[in-house]
This record gives sequence, structure tokens and C-alpha cells, in this order.
Amino acid sequence: MRIANLAGRAVLVLGDDGAIDIAGASDNRFGPDPQALFDDWAAFADWASALEGADAAASDSFAIEELGAPVPRPRQVFAIGLNYAEHAAEAGYPPDSMPVTFTKFPSSIVGPGAVVALPDGNVDWEVELVVVIGREAHKLDRESAWDHVAGLTIGQDISERITQMQGSAPQFSLGKSFPGFGPTGPWLVTPDEFADRDDLAISCSLSGEGMQSSRTSMMLYDVPELLVRLSAVCRLLPGDIIFSGTPSGIGNRRTPQRFIGPDDVLVSQIEGIGTLTTRFTAGG
Ligand code: ZN
Repeated sequence: MRIANLAGRAVLVLGDDGAIDIAGASDNRFGPDPQALFDDWAAFADWASALEGADAAASDSFAIEELGAPVPRPRQVFAIGLNYAEHAAEAGYPPDSMPVTFTKFPSSIVGPGAVVALPDGNVDWEVELVVVIGREAHKLDRESAWDHVAGLTIGQDISERITQMQGSAPQFSLGKSFPGFGPTGPWLVTPDEFADRDDLAISCSLSGEGMQSSRTSMMLYDVPELLVRLSAVCRLLPGDIIFSGTPSGIGNRRTPQRFIGPDDVLVSQIEGIGTLTTRFTAGG
């Protein structure tokens, strides 16, 4: 099933543009806050699966622009660097023995259709599969890792490269946390919806020009391994999100370099999820 945030209320998405209000349909047992669904995700998923056969014609229609971030207030946002070999190579790093881990501060998270005001500097794109935690986890093993995932969505790890590389040690978390630098959406898709949840086409284009294209099966640390490594240290909490790394093709490593300008349109796609579109303006 697909779950979205329609004007601040959790909805089940049916067909192309149908929405069923979850609080209304459940007599306020679940929702309306999209973030609250994760507090009791197993019970919610169980209840919602019975609604999947509902008639799409009986739902309210919506436009993508009305959607907010499917996970609007994660307590923790993990992000992984250098998780595709070709991207690690273009960035000049050897593949690491540990996933490179940083955070995007939660204030950077926005939904689909966001318009991001560009700060000074070199603003770059990074399309990423975003994993949403549905069950608290600590010290997970690979076999049970997917059982702790509520769903998957599309993310853009927007990055301002000057801030990111400033000083003697990199400032990944700051350079990637300007307002609007974490577009996510358009909705969360539960893992059972995918024919192969470990092998999804992932791509992005900037103002019509293809920039990144790969498959999530090319990750150095796949989704179960990321959950094992992160949960070996941190408790993963329901409603946490993980940006799982970007393939090659970022602007900073192109010749000539290319960065996002005002009026650019960034379109990100992941197989089985859909399309996430972000626009930009001057002067953030
Ligand atoms: Zn990234």
C-alpha cells in the first residue's frame, strides 16, 4: 500500500490520485498525524491492508502539490555517504569498511513539490532510496532487518558543497541541512509492493537532462546491511528515516561542474515508488 501526507493528514493512496483519510476511515484509531502512524505501525498496517481493495472511485482525488513529507517529523535522520562504488570512485574515496554515516537535521525535511530557496554556494543533487523504520530496533540481524521497515520513499540529499567541505574535517551534516534540503515523497510504499525490493531502478534529471541512473542493487551496503550496521550502535525508532546513499552522476564531479540554479527543476524517480519533483528559487 501507499501512504501519503495530504495537507497534514495521513491518507491511503488508491489508484493515480485517490485518497482515503485514515483517521476518518478508522474512527480516529490511526492518524490524522502522518508521523503518529509509526507509533503503532504493525497494527496500522494490519488494519490498512483490509482497505486496499477499496473502490478508488469512492476516494477523494488530490494533486501531488498538496502532499507533504510522508514522514514529516522523524526523530532521527540517518544518511549514508559513498554507498555506490561508482559514486565513491567519482568522489575520490576507496570503498570503506563502515558505511559513512551523517545526519540531515530534521528541519531540512520537506515533501514533494517543494520550492527550495538556494543559499549561496554550490548546491548539488543526490537521488537516494529512503528507508522508513516501522519498528524499534537495536542490534538487528540481516534476516529480520526488512521486518523493521515500514516502507520506502524517494529522497534528494541536496548538498551545498562549499559548506560540506569547509574546515579541516568535512561538515557533511551542516552542508546537507539547509532549509528544504531534504525533499522526500511523494508517498511511502510498503515493502510488499515491490517485485524485488533490493533491486530498484533509481534516477534523476535536472531540467530535463539525465544526471544519475543506477539500480539499488548496486549499493555497497544494502538495506539489511545498513540496518545491521546502524542498529549495532543506535536504537532505530519508529518513524526514523535513512537516506541510503546516491549513485554516480552528481554535479560536483562532472566536467565541467554543474550546480543547481534558480528555475531548475529536479526530477527523481525510483521504480515502484514514482516521481519526486523539486523546484528552486534564488536567495535562501
Ligand atoms: Zn547523499
